[in-house]
Amino acid sequence: MDRVYNFAAGPSMLPEAALRTAADEMLSFNGTGMSVMEMSHRSKAYQDIFDETEALLRELMDIPDSYSVLFLQGGATGQFAAIPMNLLTENGSADYVDSGNFAHGAMVEAKKYGSINCVASSKDENYVRIPELDKAKFDPKADYFYITTNNTIFGTRYAALPETGDVPLVADMSSNILSEVYDINRFGVAYAGAQKNVGPAGLTIVIVRKDLLGRAQAICPKVLNWTVMTEKGSMLNTPPTYAIYMAGLCMKWLKSQGGVQAIEKVNIEKSKLLYDVLDASDFYRAPVVPEYRSRMNVTFTTPSPELDAAFVKAAAGQGLVSLKGHRLVGGIRASIYNAMPVEGVQALAKFMQKFEVENK
Ligand SMILES: *Cc1c(COP(=O)(O)O)cnc(C)c1O
Repeated sequence: MDRVYNFAAGPSMLPEAALRTAADEMLSFNGTGMSVMEMSHRSKAYQDIFDETEALLRELMDIPDSYSVLFLQGGATGQFAAIPMNLLTENGSADYVDSGNFAHGAMVEAKKYGSINCVASSKDENYVRIPELDKAKFDPKADYFYITTNNTIFGTRYAALPETGDVPLVADMSSNILSEVYDINRFGVAYAGAQKNVGPAGLTIVIVRKDLLGRAQAICPKVLNWTVMTEKGSMLNTPPTYAIYMAGLCMKWLKSQGGVQAIEKVNIEKSKLLYDVLDASDFYRAPVVPEYRSRMNVTFTTPSPELDAAFVKAAAGQGLVSLKGHRLVGGIRASIYNAMPVEGVQALAKFMQKFEVENK
């Protein structure tokens, strides 16, 4: 069967080269006579895969030794709880920016573990923008300042990172990690569920500045304790072994494409192809304020929910699948992560123009 262009928000498309290597190595990895799935996580063969994957991530994101890189489970959602449990001091508090559904969810979860302030929200505007940030509202004594760099459901992205001074910036990068260059030194913690732009589901990446370790609350479960996991090399218990291996294959592919700087250029081009069609159209509506448009998740609507549904169905007939918007916002969402080829986006742009002509 021919492969489709899969615009799903996550789990999402993976590079074909990574899938082919995984297929080739399925029954016997590198002469071991077994699949990576069957290997002990304590074996040398597996430790080599793990170390190589960590080294690749450090290289791609230019992560210095002063940061710990953790490969955990529990998804980004697990980290919604882990973050306050690892960082909130007794009587301390944290500042949160409510820029979307996942940001809001992270904030609600964090409130179980301590004092949380919402310093800005765009909820009343249905999250069509990153909220205006007023520095006067930031607490200079906060234990950390929390943002979501890319809002997957609404399709928004921070055009610039907030200046938080000595307060560590904590970022949920689930849907745009490895898609654009970030200076990791700007962050106290950056984390991501892997299933959007890194690899398959099951792996959660946490990158934490080492001076922030050692603060975990006593109630913090050890599998979520960054200090314990750093000491144990992410292997306090069984890590998501196969997901880490697959993520490594995807990172090798990314490196072969020229790394993050090169893919960022491609991502800008890819998203522009779609936004140009939207901007030239009086049929489609793109709700996000242009300055905050995501390069990963492009959201739009046709003139009616019925036409939205017809669009999604007709597109699928052309091999352009999973374009239905998130149930919270409806409409159409094209998720165009690193692994989505330019050709897939070109095909979608063409389809959009054709659908407009036929349904106007
Ligand atoms: C998908 C997503 C999440 C939730 O991730 P899980 O791994 O399913 O817990 C959190 N934040 C953002 C920005 C996301 O895109």
